[in-house]
Amino acid sequence: MTAKIIDGKAFAATVREKVAVHVARIKKDHGITPGLAVVLVGEDPASQVYVRSKGKMTVEVGMNSYEHKLEIDTKEADLLALIDQLNNDPAVHAILVQLPLPDHLNEDLVINSIDPAKDVDGFHISNVGLLATGQKSMVPCTPLGCLMMLRGQLGSLSGLDAVVIGRSNIVGKPMAQLLIGDSCTVTVAHSRTKDLPDVVRRADIVIAAVGRAEMVPGDWIKKGATVIDVGINRIDAPEKGEGKTRLVGDVDFTSASAVAGAITPVPGGVGPMTIACLLANTVTACCRANGLAEPDDLTV
Ligand code: NDP
Repeated sequence: MTAKIIDGKAFAATVREKVAVHVARIKKDHGITPGLAVVLVGEDPASQVYVRSKGKMTVEVGMNSYEHKLEIDTKEADLLALIDQLNNDPAVHAILVQLPLPDHLNEDLVINSIDPAKDVDGFHISNVGLLATGQKSMVPCTPLGCLMMLRGQLGSLSGLDAVVIGRSNIVGKPMAQLLIGDSCTVTVAHSRTKDLPDVVRRADIVIAAVGRAEMVPGDWIKKGATVIDVGINRIDAPEKGEGKTRLVGDVDFTSASAVAGAITPVPGGVGPMTIACLLANTVTACCRANGLAEPDDLTV
């Protein structure tokens, strides 16, 4: 069997097109432009790339982008004051604080100071609770993107066995909640899981969110399973020349794609969907803030 490649880039382009249509409609009918504020503390190169690309795509779909770049030694009180200002700014419908934050800043405190209605990442404790109890919330972007691709590939997920490898607050746990919401039978695996290969072999859906290069080989995958590879790992690539590197996922793509029914590549799978879902969540937040009908094709 050769797996179908789930093209995250194409999927994300479709989501962005839908976002752009909704943005144009909101502007035309209500005179409102959805706005996303991104806060970056420090100069982490990867975070700078993400923030630049988020800002560019926000503008491309017709929304307002507000970037706030703060020095690495920014005091917690000053960051909280900025968030308070953004919470009270009616032009800002969504706020994203780029993680990780420098060590001297309390990440939980900062995230929980964002107005939950503007918490576009869905990390605020209120949104975590709403998602866990099956209520309307802001849904974390990466798991939302994974769910959209799964539904696009499989239609109904009801009754399928799913394993989520990884139990982080930003990927593994919300992913498991979303799969439960779609009536999967969900196993959450982690570093203490006994006989992980056996657990994975039983799954119709495998979500790998670990951060270990190519740790899931093809012989762990059930024939025909759908594999979503969230991992982003940079490894040496001597074949490309001295000192060169390349990105790989948590799944060994070559062996897994010989067994799986469908699989996301890295790069070009989950990554592009994460940013597309950030834009989708911004539109959702804008609609909720203004009492407008929410687009039903941009969320769960
Ligand atoms: P974390 O480091 O927060 O969590 C990793 C999880 O993997 C933990 O629950 C850990 O278990 C588990 N784990 C570690 N080693 C093993 C093992 N040997 N067997 C089974 N489970 C193991 O990572 P994140 O959730 O933040 O990210 C995971 C990956 O996804 C990373 O590569 C990250 O870069 C990528 N990512 C990609 C995004 C995208 O847009 N494509 C967005 C966000 C993340 P335990 O809890 O027991 O320690």
